[in-house]
Amino acid sequence: MERLKHVISARQFDDPEFLLGLFESANAMDRDDKFRALTDPLRGRILATLFYEPSTRTRFSFEAAMQKLGGGVLTAENMRESSSATKGETIADTVRIVSGYADAIAIRHFEQGTAAEAARISPVPIINAGDGVGEHPTQALTDVYTIKKELGRLSGLRVALVGDLLNGRTIHSLLPLLCLYKDVQFDLISPWQLRLPLKHREYLLEKHATFRESEKLGSEVLEQADVLYITRVQKERFASAEEYESVKDAYILDAAMANRLKPEAIIMHALPRVNEISPEVDDNARAAYFRQAKNGLYIRMALLKYLLA
Ligand code: ASP
Repeated sequence: MERLKHVISARQFDDPEFLLGLFESANAMDRDDKFRALTDPLRGRILATLFYEPSTRTRFSFEAAMQKLGGGVLTAENMRESSSATKGETIADTVRIVSGYADAIAIRHFEQGTAAEAARISPVPIINAGDGVGEHPTQALTDVYTIKKELGRLSGLRVALVGDLLNGRTIHSLLPLLCLYKDVQFDLISPWQLRLPLKHREYLLEKHATFRESEKLGSEVLEQADVLYITRVQKERFASAEEYESVKDAYILDAAMANRLKPEAIIMHALPRVNEISPEVDDNARAAYFRQAKNGLYIRMALLKYLLA
């Protein structure tokens, strides 16, 4: 794999060996953090986080990651209202300016393609921290790292992806990464109107991935899954409240359903959750979503070190 300058799409990560190296680096960060043995490889470097859409985990974990590596952050959690965007400044101009102050820029935007647009003109690394209904590559790295850590393998898995597959950018980034591994089978479970977009289905076909689609999260899917990945119905992408209301509670994972999973299976969610996983599931040993969120810190540390050290 060629050395990456920007991180825009999960499809850039087309080498399992590279991912393995990144996971090892993340493990080392985790260990050093526990034993308070972190060094400062990014001392004097600055990461700007430009967020035009809400975030908790992604922005905080990027900023914590940068600081734990000895670097600093310029943080803008409300770019849509607080930046010169309100005066009509273009993304290109904003990036030109911020890249003069920061050594890397993590950007979250409501429009698909914005990170790619920024990367075309930025002299410093651009990291896509979510672009509308497009992609969320650092979440996908976190997710694959989590699966490897929890299950010890990435091949021979049956992965059920549930919920809003149309708008869920975490899924759009996760699929290409999982396609790098042997014998991964997908169950795509969504209301028909939230079906995985054609271009992603075509990608699966191109990669000869095995997948089946269904509207029903039935016993067969639950009993066979190694990974049950639930997504939030992306309210902010719907044209009308009625449309959202009609699908928002399509799937609700409760304790009884969670117990139908294999004992070693895991339940994942990029969070935030609304109703799609009842809180009673949190005590189930299979519930990996809070561990998953923590893993995002170490993956982002590994990635920042790779891009900047
Ligand atoms: N936090 C994830 C994202 O930004 C998932 C979600 O919002 O549902 O895409």
